[in-house]
Amino acid sequence: MALYVYKFGGTSVGTVERIRAVAEKVKAARDRGDQIVVVVSAMSGETNRLLGLATQIQAQPQPDSRELDVLLSTGEQVTIALLCMALHELGCPACSYTGGQVKILTDDAHTKARIRSIDDQSMREDLARGKVVVVAGFQGVNDRGWITTLGRGGSDTTAVALAAALQADECQIYTDVDGVYTTDPRIEPRARRLKQITFEEMLEMASLGSKVLQIRAVEFAGKYNVPLRVLSSFTEGEGTLINYEEPKMEQALISGIAFNKDEAKLTITGVPDLPGGASKILGPIAEANIEVDMIIQNIAGDDTTDFTFTVHRNDLQRALEILQVVREQLGAGKVTGDDGIVKVSIVGVGMRSHAGIASTMFKTLADEGINIRMISTSEIKISVVVDEKYLELAVRALHSAFHLDQELPA
Ligand code: ADP
Ligand code: ASP
Ligand code: MG
Repeated sequence: MALYVYKFGGTSVGTVERIRAVAEKVKAARDRGDQIVVVVSAMSGETNRLLGLATQIQAQPQPDSRELDVLLSTGEQVTIALLCMALHELGCPACSYTGGQVKILTDDAHTKARIRSIDDQSMREDLARGKVVVVAGFQGVNDRGWITTLGRGGSDTTAVALAAALQADECQIYTDVDGVYTTDPRIEPRARRLKQITFEEMLEMASLGSKVLQIRAVEFAGKYNVPLRVLSSFTEGEGTLINYEEPKMEQALISGIAFNKDEAKLTITGVPDLPGGASKILGPIAEANIEVDMIIQNIAGDDTTDFTFTVHRNDLQRALEILQVVREQLGAGKVTGDDGIVKVSIVGVGMRSHAGIASTMFKTLADEGINIRMISTSEIKISVVVDEKYLELAVRALHSAFHLDQELPA
């Protein structure tokens, strides 16, 4: 007998018919003798609908984050009840739990809380009685019992955390694609499903913008060594296994391409080239709790530098206002902001042992006439910032240049 945690995302539970189909899949697994814990998201569109209601009531300043969590968590509560009813209808014993009922304890960071501990006792008792346990994703409670949520896409993290707590044999994330692809198949139809990808690569892909899995879910799975698989809710198949095993030498140098459309770029020109310049610019940005991603600094001939960095698009206006103040203090030149950019990244553990990958990437983009505005690299990834209008062209050209559309030799 194996213990599985299954997670079904919004589209997989988007209608009553789909909830019925999920119930059938879960029942079939239980009938095979396995113990099943199911984590569900809100029905598709529901979290956005709730967010829309909140902003209709209060757009500026943003609604109180404690109240937002009370509101947003209701989406998942609807689905757990409906799924349990669908299971009962099939004669399958099942019991629903909100995050608070399980006791998924989190910190106090409303709307982006982190899980601290999970009480697995009641779930284990239910499983021992032959019940399917159905848990609301994306939510927990802090130590005062206040409802918290785990950030968009957070049901993935609930599933992995439960799998770690219950020492499940595997955590299976059922979604609307049949695995992790070489890139988002919505952008490159020739993208291929990967049979396997390492935690390290998946973590890079997720943090560079591939929203197929929430970053924290991958972090959690890597830390607690939870075998994680992404599969389709709608078709049969083995999906993609995410584990520690590195691919063999003959496998691809690049595993995937990620992109992020959520960033914006800011530049301050004519900054006096003196010690402390970067800190005077980025210090106030950090104090305002604005996260900075890529940074470049160019030295000009006249002892001044131009300084460019990227932030989340939602933070662009605030960052611009801060930079205007900094500009006056430093006697710098001009401040500009640009949200028409996108970050495109190639990821692969194969990069460690091979030279020339960056030059292939840059040449490919040059051949397409795509201007690279910023570059950053780490051991297993290279990211470039390009104009947003080139997103599809850049992704498709790189996908083909690194032969990602070709099946690897077995
Ligand atoms: P769910 O609602 O089930 O959590 P998501 O929308 O969060 O589903 O994640 C699935 C989507 O992720 C896919 O429909 C796909 O467009 C997108 N995606 C982005 N990058 C990738 C990738 N590399 N492989 C597969 N899907 C990806
Ligand atoms: N319902 C939440 C969201 O839309 C959490 C999730 O689906 O994972 O982000
Ligand atoms: Mg998701």
